[in-house]
Amino acid sequence: MGLELTTELRHLRGIGPKRAEELHGRGLKTVEDLLFHLPFRYEDRSRFFPIAALVPGLRATVRGRVRTAVLRRTRARGMTIFEALVEDETGAIRVIFFNQPYLRTAMPPGREVILHGEAAPARFGRRDLVLQSPQFEVLSGADQEAIHTGRVVPIYPKLPGLSSRAIRRLIHSVLAGLPPALPDPLPPGLARDRGFLGRREALALAHFPPQDVDLEALNDFRSPFHRRLIFEEFFFLQLGFALARRDREAQPSEPGLRVDDAIRARLRSILPFHLTAAQRKVLKEIADDLMSGRPMNRLLQGDVGCGKTVVALLAALLVVENGHQVAFMAPTEILAEQHHRSFSRMLQGSGRPVALLTAAVTGSSRRQVLGGLLAGSIPILIGTHALLEEGVRFQSLRLAIIDEQHRFGVAQRARLRAKGRRTDVLVMTATPIPRSLALTVYGDLDLSVIDAMPPGRLPVRTVVRGEESRVDVYDFLRAQVREGRQVYVVYPLVEETDRADLKAAVEMQRRLQGQIFPDLEVGLLHGRLKGEDRDRVMADFAAGRLPILVATTVIEVGIDVPNATVMIVEQAERFGLSQLHQLRGRVGRGAHISYCILLAGAQASEEARRRLDVVARSGDGFVIAREDLRLRGPGEFLGTRQSGLPDLRIGDILRDHEILEDARGEAFRCAANLAAAPQRRDLVRHLERRWSGRLGLIQVG
Ligand code: ADP
Ligand code: MG
Repeated sequence: MGLELTTELRHLRGIGPKRAEELHGRGLKTVEDLLFHLPFRYEDRSRFFPIAALVPGLRATVRGRVRTAVLRRTRARGMTIFEALVEDETGAIRVIFFNQPYLRTAMPPGREVILHGEAAPARFGRRDLVLQSPQFEVLSGADQEAIHTGRVVPIYPKLPGLSSRAIRRLIHSVLAGLPPALPDPLPPGLARDRGFLGRREALALAHFPPQDVDLEALNDFRSPFHRRLIFEEFFFLQLGFALARRDREAQPSEPGLRVDDAIRARLRSILPFHLTAAQRKVLKEIADDLMSGRPMNRLLQGDVGCGKTVVALLAALLVVENGHQVAFMAPTEILAEQHHRSFSRMLQGSGRPVALLTAAVTGSSRRQVLGGLLAGSIPILIGTHALLEEGVRFQSLRLAIIDEQHRFGVAQRARLRAKGRRTDVLVMTATPIPRSLALTVYGDLDLSVIDAMPPGRLPVRTVVRGEESRVDVYDFLRAQVREGRQVYVVYPLVEETDRADLKAAVEMQRRLQGQIFPDLEVGLLHGRLKGEDRDRVMADFAAGRLPILVATTVIEVGIDVPNATVMIVEQAERFGLSQLHQLRGRVGRGAHISYCILLAGAQASEEARRRLDVVARSGDGFVIAREDLRLRGPGEFLGTRQSGLPDLRIGDILRDHEILEDARGEAFRCAANLAAAPQRRDLVRHLERRWSGRLGLIQVG
């Protein structure tokens, strides 16, 4: 047939222009794409079952000869029924297909067939059996290879207009049409060391496994050919990261920052407490980056409340003391405002002003900020994505800090970086991200982890409750307020723009204020409030003037009010586990014992409530994140389209984390020696073809 991997699917027989377009819409354009549409499951249909031994309810594969066959038409709207009697040495069984009239010619008497399906009583109470619409294969010649039955059979995820059976046939013919030898993009030494099969062979076997295969390993994607293909996928993704890093490091280096005793003393003097050992370790990693001539690109991870912001502030100050500027970008106005407040407080009297820039900063104050940045009189700028606007220009931006990175895309990171001549980048995530996910999403970043909490933190007592406990919950809440504590009541807002949810939060506040706590003040905070209203509510709550705050998830990250001791989450089942852990992190920040009450909605299933128990049982963000990732998958876990999540075709971040680590090690070694590699051009070309969609990653030469 003269096929190649790059042949477009529309050139295949049986694929018309419309189908080709649909397939393209699903990311399948070429023969290669099709071959990476791998089975998600395999069924052993290789052992033939004696027909006489079939019993009702048994799924089995039988092989026999068609003895009689008839096509009947029902009176009701022209349905057709094809009925055959198939017989082996032990007995015979009736086989029925609906609306497949072509079987009259395809399955004539005398023909040998393989059938796979469930035996059922022909009629209620009768003993004779029937196979209804089984998977089937008609054997035409002695040497024909069975592909649909009589072997270990691949089961495919559906594609537009193509059944699993049609995909199977298509892939079988494509494999037959490809030349026997195909280029293999993996470095040959590497493949040899690991005993990998060739790429073509691995692909062929992943679709049509050999008879003696270990079915369990196959279904777990642990077969040698699966492992080979998974390795390849991760290898090239990681090679992309490795080359991006190598390019960055090849940039002309600038003098690193200096850190002398005077600067150290200054940093220490602004701290109201001692850093934890974990914070010191991470600060040193950052400082080492800043002092080297090479640009930093670092991810700072740590559980909520572990003290990342303080570390970021010290890093910022290091840069400022060296005469450069710092930009700090946060995902929401509320967060930016809060960071601005706490930075300003800590730097009070240091002669280092901190400016704020959000969409809410307009007119002359905006002009003042922009002017100060350009003149260099503002050393630290904190804001939202407003920082990315073109008019925002610095005299000497040296460090960009990005909070809650997974709310920003790779492109935005690059845009902020580009505002300096040579910008160090520090990305922070409050949601601990399991390592394997971090390596695939932030694979070009170095990783720093704060793995311990500041001393004196009390664990937050967490319970899961249902609607039936609402009255008790309110009583408890009132008791806490009477003791002088404060309370959050959080409403789920899937999107800050979701009107219906917003209404629910507003109504909850009204009800709590009007009916439940008429004697207490109940505040309301959501993303749609105007800047000054929001400021007032936040300031009232922070100052302890407001005992109860009803809020949407705008408070999810970073809000810091130590006197708040109760976090009530309404309809908790609608949140991801990591998000609940984040919300819980808003309490337990002071000297008093704190509580988190996860209220499951009336409609929450048993299973949903069990999921919530994970949060109730564990206080460790990494443990919760792993479970959250397992339950929801990486896309939902990161919760945004622009997360930079690669579209893996076969690799699975959780299942294949060992292969991922292995592939990453090899890819970084390979990148280091790439200049000398004979197949350099092929490697890069394959990388570009496979991952060309990934922004900012592939600019390698
Ligand atoms: P994160 O950003 O990691 O969630 P923060 O930096 O907001 O955490 O810190 C949480 C709280 O802990 C803040 O009130 C902060 O002042 C305090 N904190 C941070 N580091 C320490 C420390 N080493 N000792 C005592 N308190 C600390
Ligand atoms: Mg924080």
